[in-house]
Amino acid sequence: MTIDCFSQHCPTPYFEACEGQLSIGGHLVRDLVARAGRTPLYVYDRSVMNRKVQELRSVLPADIELHYAIKANPMPAVVRHMSGLVEGLDVASVAEMQVALDTGMRPELISFAGPGKSKEELQSAVAAGIIINMESEHEMTRIADIARATNKRPRVAIRVNPDFELKTSGMKMAGGPKPFGVDAERVPEMLKTLAGLPIDFWGFHIYSGSQNLRADILIEAQQKSAALAFDLAAHAPGPVRMLNLGGGFGIPYFPGETPLNLAPIGQNLHRLVPEIRRRLPQAHIVLELGRFLVGESGVYLCSIRDRKISRGHVFLVTDGGLHHHLAASGNFGQVLRKNYPVLIADRLGSPETETASVVGPLCTPLDLLADRMVLAVAGIGDLVAVFQSGAYGFTASPLGFLSHPAPAEILV
Ligand SMILES: *Cc1c(COP(=O)(O)O)cnc(C)c1O
Repeated sequence: MTIDCFSQHCPTPYFEACEGQLSIGGHLVRDLVARAGRTPLYVYDRSVMNRKVQELRSVLPADIELHYAIKANPMPAVVRHMSGLVEGLDVASVAEMQVALDTGMRPELISFAGPGKSKEELQSAVAAGIIINMESEHEMTRIADIARATNKRPRVAIRVNPDFELKTSGMKMAGGPKPFGVDAERVPEMLKTLAGLPIDFWGFHIYSGSQNLRADILIEAQQKSAALAFDLAAHAPGPVRMLNLGGGFGIPYFPGETPLNLAPIGQNLHRLVPEIRRRLPQAHIVLELGRFLVGESGVYLCSIRDRKISRGHVFLVTDGGLHHHLAASGNFGQVLRKNYPVLIADRLGSPETETASVVGPLCTPLDLLADRMVLAVAGIGDLVAVFQSGAYGFTASPLGFLSHPAPAEILV
């Protein structure tokens, strides 16, 4: 049975109700809390990850390779599960690299992006044999120094800051002046220098942004990224072995947002891939996705500790809040605060509803998980569920703020 109230508040079809309780991966929330031994906790459902990968594969050409961008959810158990579903992993730190290598993924299928990599990080990456997405000319010089000192030939790709900008994207990360990647117009010169260095050119990484729900914009980005790669490949010292077209596939969080329409993206790639095959015959064609693959798998659960009525307004005070889930509080880059989908997880289908705000235990008005939402009437001990919490939750939150304990995490 799919829960009625989901269509109202939550755009995801991935969870069920049973005996008035939310069920995640076939487990009732009360059982999950007992299993974790405490609240708050994040629960991630591997079957949702499977479904998301399946949804994508069903529309994409067979030779598109999917990479999982670990920073969306670096829990080792999640990364291990994802490593069995995708062709590669993208990391943004040495700690993430270790988690990726621990899964058994071959190093040439792991890439490392991010500005300002330290010498030590580069040394670790070279030793591991992963692909380094270079973010600057200076980084290339450092990698060449490491290569000479260690007698290794590091594998490198150039992260390109393209000469186009996407019209809409939740988070713009390319075009114009950016701290990410090398400006496209400087790449030919950089490739000339690269040809004389003891490093192996692997390809291009072109990442335009994050959290996009518009297929037409993503299609435009992929078209333009491929065209840019064709131009730059003419200057490369060897064949392009990897063309990473980026990602940016979004998920709906707020009322009025609709899921990304994958069909046209697939159709466009069915046209584009043969052209890439023809012009860059040795290239692995990669899409790197984080949020789209894991975001909808996660639910954040916290317990109501107090129920207060202040001048007619109901406040449900929970043991969880912005220190665990910054994004749901509206403080992770949002311009206007909107409510994530929130439900009282052990009172599903309850006919008694009220308008209430869900707040956390931190002494700041920013600590708000739901602002004046219609929820089932709830009391002390009831469970609050925040959906769409599988990406940029636990590790994207200021866990140290006010020194409360960290939440638990489980994968079911
Ligand atoms: C963060 C990041 C991703 C993942 O973005 P999502 O919005 O989670 O898909 C992919 N690639 C790079 C380079 C990133 O920085």
